[in-house]
Amino acid sequence: MAARLATPPGPPQPAEPVDPHATWPGIVTGDTLLTRVTSALTGWCGELPPHQLLAAADHTYQQRLAGRFRTGRCFLAGDAAHLHGALGMQNLADGLRDADNLAWRLALAWHLPPTGGPADSALLDGYENERRGAVGARLRAVDQTMPLLRPLRGWAETRRSLISGSFRKHAPLLADGQLGTGRFGGAPAYPATPSGVAVRVPEQRGSGRGGTSLTEQLPATAPGVLVPDLPVVTADGAADTLRARLGTVFLLVLVAPGTTVWSAEHWLGAGLMPRLAELADALPVPTEVLVTDTYPGAVPHTVLLVRPDGHLLGTTPGLHPEQLHTLTAPLTAAPGLEQAG
Ligand SMILES: Cc1cc2nc3c(=O)[nH]c(=O)nc-3n(C[C@H](O)[C@H](O)[C@H](O)COP(=O)(O)OP(=O)(O)OC[C@H]3O[C@@H](n4cnc5c(N)ncnc54)[C@H](O)[C@@H]3O)c2cc1C
Repeated sequence: MAARLATPPGPPQPAEPVDPHATWPGIVTGDTLLTRVTSALTGWCGELPPHQLLAAADHTYQQRLAGRFRTGRCFLAGDAAHLHGALGMQNLADGLRDADNLAWRLALAWHLPPTGGPADSALLDGYENERRGAVGARLRAVDQTMPLLRPLRGWAETRRSLISGSFRKHAPLLADGQLGTGRFGGAPAYPATPSGVAVRVPEQRGSGRGGTSLTEQLPATAPGVLVPDLPVVTADGAADTLRARLGTVFLLVLVAPGTTVWSAEHWLGAGLMPRLAELADALPVPTEVLVTDTYPGAVPHTVLLVRPDGHLLGTTPGLHPEQLHTLTAPLTAAPGLEQAG
């Protein structure tokens, strides 16, 4: 609903005190909401100012999670896969995360020669594993918080304050969804499945299916986290940012202090760079080489391998071709991997 005032009301005046614990009579309809809006406007302005109602609609919040995000060649994403309810606030962002997570899998499944083995299917099943797990964890957080925010009176309120903290303590939670932080809004990490390939993992308390937790709870070098945005230099010496390079290929990022101080022509063809480029070419997935001055928690010469959706596949201390091949192996062949049920 949106109302446009014909004349600015001037600085807001104190409205009638609103009891935060007051319950609304019956169901909140457009009419009851309008009554509330007009009484607030009257409280601010002394009288109801001229205004025009531009649009009004009833919207029912729902919390829903599809049982499957994939059946064969059909995938669900966005609102078709999940609705976050009144506290979620991240519907749109999580829809975009779905698209990010699915796009590189489809591209890889399409462009890599099919193995005919479980890897093809496990790569695509990894989408449901990671994304349904992450959204499920968020919905559980909403479920757990809703009863704490419901207005109570008397003994029930005292009991809740004693056991679980006051409303005031829970109020910051409401901002999480808006700010993109915490259990309602933080970027997920996929620590149990950093390769993105579906594996059967035991469900952990407080985490989603697939071992989902939040990026902000883990070090920036932990497998599965969403990498921070940092200045990088590309293999042809251009300056860019890490997140701007995401979306198409895997990124092989060398942490090399001093690269922004020295002109790229001095180091691009020297040191580890030629071997890094060879290594990137030899990996079984399309990979671009980048260099960064610094990365949180990573010592110089650490190599980071980043998925096209920005989640960290893993790190190696220096150039270790066999370790990097081990990290990418599940994407193209999955010996011994169980498919998610
Ligand atoms: C009042 C309101 C406030 C919101 N506020 C926020 C907010 O603050 N933050 C936030 O993150 N999210 C918010 N959202 C949610 C956000 O708008 C949605 O999560 C997001 O738009 C979903 O995008 P989507 O592409 O998944 O689905 P949609 O935007 O619903 O797109 C689906 C499209 O598919 C089309 N379609 C449907 N059936 C068919 C068919 N059979 N054939 C062809 N086309 C079809 C539809 O016409 C539609 O264009 C809000 C939503 C509402 C209603």
